[in-house]
Amino acid sequence: MSLIVQKYGGTSVGTIDRIEAVAEKVAGFHHRGDDVVVVVSAMSGETNRLIGLASEIHDEPSPREMDVLVSTGEQVTIALLSMALQKRGCDARSYTGGQVRILTDNSHAKARIQDIDAHRIQADLSAGSVVVVAGFQGADEQGNITTLGRGGSDTTAVALAAALKADECQIYTDVDGVYTTDPRMVSGARRLDQITFEEMLEMASQGSKVLQIRAVEFAGKYKVPLRVLSSFEDGPGTLITLEDDDEMEKPVVSGIAFNRDEAKLTIRGIPDVPGIASRILGAVGRANIEVDVIVQNVAQDNTASLTFTVHRNELAKAKGVLEAVAKDLGATTVEADAGIAKLALVGVGMRSHAGVAATMFEALANDNINIQMISTSEIKITVVIDERYLELAVRALHSAFDLEQCDKSE
Ligand code: ASP
Ligand code: MG
Repeated sequence: MSLIVQKYGGTSVGTIDRIEAVAEKVAGFHHRGDDVVVVVSAMSGETNRLIGLASEIHDEPSPREMDVLVSTGEQVTIALLSMALQKRGCDARSYTGGQVRILTDNSHAKARIQDIDAHRIQADLSAGSVVVVAGFQGADEQGNITTLGRGGSDTTAVALAAALKADECQIYTDVDGVYTTDPRMVSGARRLDQITFEEMLEMASQGSKVLQIRAVEFAGKYKVPLRVLSSFEDGPGTLITLEDDDEMEKPVVSGIAFNRDEAKLTIRGIPDVPGIASRILGAVGRANIEVDVIVQNVAQDNTASLTFTVHRNELAKAKGVLEAVAKDLGATTVEADAGIAKLALVGVGMRSHAGVAATMFEALANDNINIQMISTSEIKITVVIDERYLELAVRALHSAFDLEQCDKSE
């Protein structure tokens, strides 16, 4: 018998039939003797519908009232799911975030969880009930309703699992796990049985949008074993967990993440003296623009060039900032390029393996793909390439690292 926190996302509770199916699944666990806490999202589309209603009334609705409004989506699903469970002979009780005392700070729409009172839930579980909690929400010290940011139900589930010291936090969604890369791009992409929190963060921040990043960080911090699985078909899903030191055959590369959301800026002909990178990137930072990959080169004439990537939406703004700095520094040119893609090999096994970068670059070279920028961390090698070759590059790397084959750690 174990204590499991399960979270079902918007698609999984998107219709009455699907809510009934979730109830069936939850009832199965309950009848087997597990203690189950269920966290649900709003029915799919509902949060957007509510936001739309507000925008018909006010251009800048009060954040407090927005939270009162959007938190109702989840309140509907907890009640419906509890009824569906009761119909199946399961004792079930629903609670809003505020009711179970998910205490947050008062930053509406992006509140952070500060504390959870686990006693009430534990008492219900001991009395044999399934506890159904509204995701995405809490209350501040004054009792104002707050929400945790889009996709925040994942964070609710992980936070509850941490507070209750659950054996596992299961995130049921419309995919059956985390893949080596996007299966829509590479048909041979394979579901991973396991991935570490660190790898998952690298994969997620690069666009594998299975889980809210914050939830993964939270789970890593509190060591909550997290499993992503399908609510529509049975299967083991992907377990996201701590790095296992004794595992003999760690895959060197676990996955390939990529994104097309970035753009590249280059400033040329800048003096090669201390303080220049700081002046350029300082100005960009003050404009509140986040910078990702950075490369600096010094030319033979002793001038330097600096290239960096920003989110594509901020390209025009960043270019404006750069042009102003260029004038001050006497730089020769500023170039902006939106046609790039970033792709990264991710794997904790890289820590103990040499030659991963060489294999990566060779695979790209074989397909005549030019690498524009390179950056590395302990468990990741990132390259920036022309967006037109992204798909080719991902396929090439997927086969160069044998990612289609069976997981050796299985
Ligand atoms: N319903 C909220 C949203 O759509 C929270 C969630 O689904 O996790 O963002
Ligand atoms: Mg979601």
